[in-house]
Amino acid sequence: MNLTDLQALEERYLMRTYRRAPVEFVRGEGALLWDAGGREYLDFLAGISVCSVGHCNPDVVEAVREQASRLIHTSNLFYTEPMVRLAERLAASSLGGRVFFANSGTEANECAIKLARKHAHRRGVDSPQIVSFERDFHGRTYGALAATPSLAENADLGPMLPGFRSVPFDDAAALREAVGESTAAVLIEPIQGESGVYAISDETLLAAREACDEVGALLVFDEIQTGLGRTGSLWAYEQTPVRPDVLTSAKALGGGMPIGACIAGPGAGEVLEPGDHGSTFAGGPVACAAALAVLEIVDDATLLRRVRELGADLRQRLLGIEGVRAVRGRGLMLGVALEGGIDATALGADLLDRGLVVNVPEPGTLRLLPPLTVDSAQIEHAAATIEAALLSFGER
Ligand code: PLP
Repeated sequence: MNLTDLQALEERYLMRTYRRAPVEFVRGEGALLWDAGGREYLDFLAGISVCSVGHCNPDVVEAVREQASRLIHTSNLFYTEPMVRLAERLAASSLGGRVFFANSGTEANECAIKLARKHAHRRGVDSPQIVSFERDFHGRTYGALAATPSLAENADLGPMLPGFRSVPFDDAAALREAVGESTAAVLIEPIQGESGVYAISDETLLAAREACDEVGALLVFDEIQTGLGRTGSLWAYEQTPVRPDVLTSAKALGGGMPIGACIAGPGAGEVLEPGDHGSTFAGGPVACAAALAVLEIVDDATLLRRVRELGADLRQRLLGIEGVRAVRGRGLMLGVALEGGIDATALGADLLDRGLVVNVPEPGTLRLLPPLTVDSAQIEHAAATIEAALLSFGER
């Protein structure tokens, strides 16, 4: 079956929810991908920050193979060891409380939303509100969607879940204003990913922490994209002056296997009780075994230091390229702002033609999310490819 056949079948049988690039990938190893014609690509998107330990990381493959050959699924009505070991490891490496497993990022956030609402009801709040920032992205199920202002505007999908409001991005004063007695939680991405890689200032994070503490609301960090080493620390919050009450994780957690987690600190971790939440697949032994293998790799001071160094190197190289206006982000989560007039979508397509996979989260920005295991030569090659593409754009 060639690409044309795949496209014809997709057009006939798949719902039209995605715009795909015209490439069929058939194999991956480390930071490299190969298409059906045998062409090699350098992957600076990593499945949107999922394949952080590289494609088909041998330790992840072995953990999956070993677990799948023994036991794939039993449900949450019984015990399995990978699940409890993973919960212990996640709690110990972050907020120290309890974990609820999910199958995706949006589901991890659903858990956080339920938890926050119940926590608020316990404070006597009748109509709990969740506050987030404009341009935040928290997912596409109805709770997470309601906290994703740009998508929640889609009236065709309405009515939206009530009890959500947003304030202008990184506006500490507006956030303070919005948080009151009925606030259940402030739910934020410490660095917005999907909307173009924008970090919240320390000042606003401190304001969020204080505002939550004043009224007894929970501060929830969505670390679905920023977590697990992406920014050069295991969790992005470690490089900020605040500690959240709850954090959500997914994407890189399973090394490509679908898994999400809502991690709540000691107080918040006690809120949900039997019957409040659940999932048939979540916490399954194969996904948890994969996640344990991922943590073994990324929860490592040497790797995290290298992420910071490689990120700094990539940033410097990008800043030296004509056509690059600014570079935002932290570690290996970078947004490359292009000079006005450069069509980022066309540039992204051109980079794919040149064998470099990136994505375009907003007009005028390229987003780079390479595997954390990328090497210096690959960083240099990616920057050189972007430079060459921008040069040829300038000549057109
Ligand atoms: N939260 C953030 C910050 C994300 O970047 C994403 C996905 O891009 C999600 C939530 C939703 O995750 P998922 O697509 O696994 O549901």
